[in-house]
Amino acid sequence: MAELEKLQMYIDGARVDAAGGEAFESLNPFTGKAWATVPRGGPEDAERAVAAAKKAFTSGDWPAMTPTARGHLLRKLGDLIAENAERLAKIEVQDNGKLMAEMGMQLQYTPQWFYYFAGLADKIEGAVLPIDKPDMFTYTRHEPLGVITMITPWNSPILLLTWKLAPALAAGNTVVLKPSEFTSASSLAFADLMEQAGFPKGVFNVVTGYGAEIGETLVTHDDVAKIAFTGGGQSGAHVYEKAAAGLKKVSLELGGKSPNIVFADCNIDNAVKGAISGIFAATGQTCIAGSRLLVEESIHNEFVDKIVDFAKTARMGDPMSMDTQVGPVTTMPQYEKILGYLDVAREDGAECVLGGAKADRPECGDGWFVEPTIYTGVNNQMRIAQEEVFGPVLSIIPFRDDEEAIEIANDVVYGLASGVWTSSIERAIEIPKRINAGTVWVNTYRAVSYMAPFGGYKRSGLGRESGQDAIYEYMQTKTVWISTASDVPDPFVLK
Ligand code: NAD
Repeated sequence: MAELEKLQMYIDGARVDAAGGEAFESLNPFTGKAWATVPRGGPEDAERAVAAAKKAFTSGDWPAMTPTARGHLLRKLGDLIAENAERLAKIEVQDNGKLMAEMGMQLQYTPQWFYYFAGLADKIEGAVLPIDKPDMFTYTRHEPLGVITMITPWNSPILLLTWKLAPALAAGNTVVLKPSEFTSASSLAFADLMEQAGFPKGVFNVVTGYGAEIGETLVTHDDVAKIAFTGGGQSGAHVYEKAAAGLKKVSLELGGKSPNIVFADCNIDNAVKGAISGIFAATGQTCIAGSRLLVEESIHNEFVDKIVDFAKTARMGDPMSMDTQVGPVTTMPQYEKILGYLDVAREDGAECVLGGAKADRPECGDGWFVEPTIYTGVNNQMRIAQEEVFGPVLSIIPFRDDEEAIEIANDVVYGLASGVWTSSIERAIEIPKRINAGTVWVNTYRAVSYMAPFGGYKRSGLGRESGQDAIYEYMQTKTVWISTASDVPDPFVLK
């Protein structure tokens, strides 16, 4: 048996094991076998990492650096990511089962976040206020918050880290990252690039381990100013509650059950491709999955035939192969959860028109694969329509008219993303106004950019990532009052 690679945490610029010396195995979802060991960090490791980040925030080179100089470092980091894209992609594919075809492109695009926020770092301007008092010079400054705890899920470790890290560093904060216990490898490899780019020691730290064992110390620690969390709703709510005790700032990027609405007047072939990309890309393991496909009744049957025919052609197999279109599920518990939802859909009376089982294909080997699955006859009250499956499972729900489409689209606790397929200019403008979601795509799906704010309505989260909004999530405003008066007026009245 091949020897397992031994991964180490990254604290204060040094590679370290967990203080308790324990580690757990990281599995390759395509083979189902362990390929590396990951330190099982605990409170002592969290303490060390926060102390390092606090020291880096308050003393040394980092706080002395101008925003322009921070921008230079971020640009260098972006270049290093592009140069190391293939190496990082291979690590991610092995650890996470993401497709090489997607990771290659994603990692060539990831640097753009660092370039964008590098540029923004020295453009965050305060204001001189035309204050309504004589003899007073009053201005605002935007300052960093301090030590930021970042907690990420397993489905897209580098990209989701990037969305937090680029604005947080541009703003001048320092960071302790805890990636998912299932997919820590790429974030640990990322730390090497931070060092090569020249970030001072302690500005970026990566600790590994389980949420309950190390995550909570990072959430509740007195020296942590903010928690930036991406993950499931239940853990998000728990983190929010814990952070509330310390009155910490929190941003949450949580789950979704996004409606992809197909009107009869759309270009059907384009809408089929949009629906496919919404649910089968990344094996459906995305928070923005268009898992509820709302189809206007008059084209329902034609649409179902077309999407089933298209989905049947999806090539499954080794995620390292550039031909593969649907890879394995990333974790064994997630695999079991998806299979459980297939039972739920059956019990609820949904009609399975494609898949509906684990994939039993030779090209899938011992991996955790689920057949691309499509249900029709779904009504929006079924669990399969209300709960996030986070897998390649699509529920098709018919609707009569615009009113019913909007009603069904919004009748869910989530509000992360949505799609609209139409050739009507009125619908393209009016329907997005009425959908309760942070993102609405019209005649496209699954588009993201460093320039475009991203985040959830309702239980899909708090705060925004990407775009200019994002940097203010990592800053606070200070107002400075300077009196130019020669004497101090009556001290017993408000000035
Ligand atoms: P998860 O909530 O199980 O875990 C996310 C992270 O939180 C992990 O690092 C985990 O260790 C940590 N964690 C868990 N409990 C914790 C605790 N008590 N204290 C501190 N940390 C804790 O989620 P997951 O299964 O890894 O990811 C899938 C979920 O993430 C899905 O619901 C998906 O929709 C969501 N997601 C959201 C977005 C978005 O941007 N909105 C993006 C990707 C994924």
